Amino acid sequence: MQTSFTAEQLADPQTAASNQVLRTCVHCGFCTATCPTFVLLGDELDSPRGRIYLIKDMLESGRPATEEVVRHVDRCLSCLACMTTCPSGVNYMHLVDHARQYIEETYERPLQERVMRDVLAAVLPRPGLFRWAIQGAQLAKPFRALLPKKTKLGSRLNAMLDLAPAKLPRYERAQKPQTHAASSPRRGRVALLAGCAQTVLDPEINRATIRLLTRLGIETVIADGVGCCSALTHHMGKHDQAMATARAAIAGWTKVLDAGGLDAIVINTSGCGTTVKDYGFMFRSEPEPWRSQAARVSELAMDITEYLHKLGYAPTRPASSLRVTYHSACSLQHGQRITEAPKALLRAAGFTVTEPAESHLCCGSAGTYNLVQPEIAGRLRARKLDNIAITEPDLIAAGNIGCITQLAGATPIVHTVQLLDWMAGGPVPPGVPAH
Ligand code: SF4
Ligand code: SF4
Repeated sequence: MQTSFTAEQLADPQTAASNQVLRTCVHCGFCTATCPTFVLLGDELDSPRGRIYLIKDMLESGRPATEEVVRHVDRCLSCLACMTTCPSGVNYMHLVDHARQYIEETYERPLQERVMRDVLAAVLPRPGLFRWAIQGAQLAKPFRALLPKKTKLGSRLNAMLDLAPAKLPRYERAQKPQTHAASSPRRGRVALLAGCAQTVLDPEINRATIRLLTRLGIETVIADGVGCCSALTHHMGKHDQAMATARAAIAGWTKVLDAGGLDAIVINTSGCGTTVKDYGFMFRSEPEPWRSQAARVSELAMDITEYLHKLGYAPTRPASSLRVTYHSACSLQHGQRITEAPKALLRAAGFTVTEPAESHLCCGSAGTYNLVQPEIAGRLRARKLDNIAITEPDLIAAGNIGCITQLAGATPIVHTVQLLDWMAGGPVPPGVPAH
């Protein structure tokens, strides 16, 4: 694709990077077939190619984002299915991240929307506040009939109430900064990203990860100062907030790394893993030592299944008769290109593993997407659950807390690592049927 940025525009490193991305696109349109929003809405402007044209015009013009561009970019899930499909290697993720930041800096959203986005950006990355917010939502549930009907705000508030779990697990001290010693002869040392929202919604995921790793002889460190990875605010275009959060994580891990070395930075929330693996790019124009520290952190980042697959995993319990349908989170399959390791591990653990049709399509979770675009997210959820139901599973396994929350329903859904831990000596994951 030809571009016409001025030399002055190209002096900006972000515009220069987006120019390279745009020039890679040959506008073949292959990506449209696997884009969830195009599949649902059928509008070229809600396809990757359409968005690429809109973003190109917006950036080249140098003018503030228009309502039309914002509408179509906001509808993008950042699921990155288009990157898996693209034969030309277009890095849509970097382009849309830049577009979201540009929109945030140049477009004035309606007050109601601004407030909601600011509240989400402030609350979700802070476990204490997030916990309070969920408890507030639980109290508000009986009064949902009072919410305005058929308005954007009403449907968003309803989506928030729907997603708030009925019961919140108790506060979990084990997720605080500390070192969990290996419980068998030591084979390695990793840092685990404890995360933010996940520690509130389902602390059992980190518990299972720590149990499994330490049992395998891996000393597991939860680094001081590392909280949210920045993915939530980064995808909302809140650049400064995202960089500050990422900087804290890099500093925390660098301290642990310098003190005793690390074989990997293990991440069990694939949405976060995609972002941490991109720190090298995010900090490419930052001064030293941030640039090289960020690159080092990115190189060490591994999804838990990627790490276990490399380390070697063997169950200690007899094979289970349960049928597990593996839901492949977009951030894992498209963002990190990890498709086989989780399924191979589940099979090695003794489960019968199936996959639903259209496994490349997003479930609608996508960070804060199910809160800000509840209508599209709801349609994607229903489509995903229908495809999963056809596989007649006893339970669903996924590698991302966002998907786990989004797909919660009649069929139990747990993190892949909980099943691996169970089959290697851990407790039965909550909600999993006896077998
Ligand atoms: S598939 Fe790739 S090259 Fe083709 S239109 Fe989509 S982004 Fe551009
Ligand atoms: S990231 Fe997902 S929703 Fe966005 S354009 Fe690509 S395929 Fe479509």
